[in-house]
Amino acid sequence: MVNHPFHALEDGPTGDYRGQPTFCCPCGSDLVVMVARFDPDTRLPGMYLLDGMCAACGALLTLPTEIDEMEDAT
Ligand SMILES: [Zn+2]
Repeated sequence: MVNHPFHALEDGPTGDYRGQPTFCCPCGSDLVVMVARFDPDTRLPGMYLLDGMCAACGALLTLPTEIDEMEDAT
């Protein structure tokens, strides 16, 4: 259970699992803290940094993209 997603930022990273894009932290949480810019037309994240942080345990993660899926298929 996460009280609020920003405690991970306050405490600093607890691990570094960057390198392989992932939807889920090794701790089992799939909730991430990410840095994004919103697209005013779609009102959705139009750009985000690939470095993210697990909102539950604070580990650094590499966030997934559409391109990852294409690379996995080849
Ligand atoms: Zn985690």
